[in-house]
Amino acid sequence: MNFDLTEEHKMLKEMAYKFAQAEIAPIAYDCDKEEKYTPEVRKKAAENGLVGAWIPEEYGGAGVGILGNTIITEELSRVDMGIGLNIVAASFGCEAIYFFGSEEQKKKYLTPVCRGEWVAAGAFTEPNAGTDVSGYRTRAAKDGKDFVINGNKMFITNGSVCDFMVAQCISLPDQKRHASFSQIIVPADAKGIIRNKLHGKMGIRSSDTAEITFEDVRVPQENLVGKEGRGFYQLMHFFDITRIMVSGQAIGLSQACLDTAIKYSKERTAFGAPLGSYQLTMAKLTDMAIRVEALRTLVYKAAWLVDAKKPDYTLAAMGKYLGGQTAVFCANAAVEIHGGYGYMDEYAVQKWYRDAKILELYEGTKEAEIMTIGRVLQSK
Ligand SMILES: Cc1cc2nc3c(=O)[nH]c(=O)nc-3n(C[C@H](O)[C@H](O)[C@H](O)COP(=O)(O)OP(=O)(O)OC[C@H]3O[C@@H](n4cnc5c(N)ncnc54)[C@H](O)[C@@H]3O)c2cc1C
Repeated sequence: MNFDLTEEHKMLKEMAYKFAQAEIAPIAYDCDKEEKYTPEVRKKAAENGLVGAWIPEEYGGAGVGILGNTIITEELSRVDMGIGLNIVAASFGCEAIYFFGSEEQKKKYLTPVCRGEWVAAGAFTEPNAGTDVSGYRTRAAKDGKDFVINGNKMFITNGSVCDFMVAQCISLPDQKRHASFSQIIVPADAKGIIRNKLHGKMGIRSSDTAEITFEDVRVPQENLVGKEGRGFYQLMHFFDITRIMVSGQAIGLSQACLDTAIKYSKERTAFGAPLGSYQLTMAKLTDMAIRVEALRTLVYKAAWLVDAKKPDYTLAAMGKYLGGQTAVFCANAAVEIHGGYGYMDEYAVQKWYRDAKILELYEGTKEAEIMTIGRVLQSK
């Protein structure tokens, strides 16, 4: 057993953090305030091999695997989760193409994303169904050689800036619910697509989130990803992978909260001594540190197992669940240690407090993770 990161992973970690310090830190505050998406940072990140880094080199990626991608996500999120998301989620949706798409689809879509030329999106959630992924209603009807798509998608990351999306649609309405879904690549400029950027998010405000409407959107049937009728199962596999990425965000944000809280506890005095000298403060910091360490170990293991072709998707769901909890806990503790200053927007901890909550909501709510893990436990 060996818990050491490889030299490559260590270098990747250092490079990603340096990139985030140089390119993200100076603009993070303003971008959050102005809800500003950052294409120029994403393009620079692509030049450094940070976009779609998990994608093998033959399709344009850096080939660093899921563990490498988790490390990149962690280091970017240590500085800013919103802009970090613009970088690591530029390939969101490509997982479906990589795991289930044709060779032609992989070459056509993955390479421009890794080069920073295109942005992808995964369009699954609908206004009336999120957790209930078998409740989506968007229809893809066959007409000649095309699919004609009608329906609505909600809360889609990169929705208003993407060049294409992988959309979850019902193409076999006569089949049983789970067997009725297919995943289809939809170019964002296709006629009949209406995209509305959503404003007013609590956190990760520099990331793009949109509502998308499909009105008789026509795409060739060759845009089907994988097998028709396997969309539900392909989506479950997709989440198994992307949840690890989201857990990487949780590690980075939690670590940032811990580091900043330790620093503040040494500088700030109360009753004539530094805050950090009081056992109540030490207890908070200790609790944060233990949780961050436990989270990193669990998530790295889940990522390492995918790269070793021995995936354990229950572990990935556990990592996502623990990730959300850890981030929310650490952000809350960091605000508390900063006292009233922690409530003011000149201190980053108030932003991290707002950012953290999304980790218990997207890519499966914490309740969805419990249901996933619980079902596996019951099946033993
Ligand atoms: C900023 C942001 C970015 C997002 N990005 C994307 C994206 O890129 N692509 C995409 O497809 N989606 C995306 N989402 C959507 C996100 O994944 C969903 O919001 C999430 O899955 C929850 O779905 P919902 O909002 O419909 O809530 P609901 O499913 O309506 O759930 C509401 C509450 O009920 C709980 N609940 C549901 N079912 C049960 C049950 N059986 N038992 C107990 N409790 C239950 C849930 O856990 C939750 O607490 C994003 C959302 C946000 C906010």
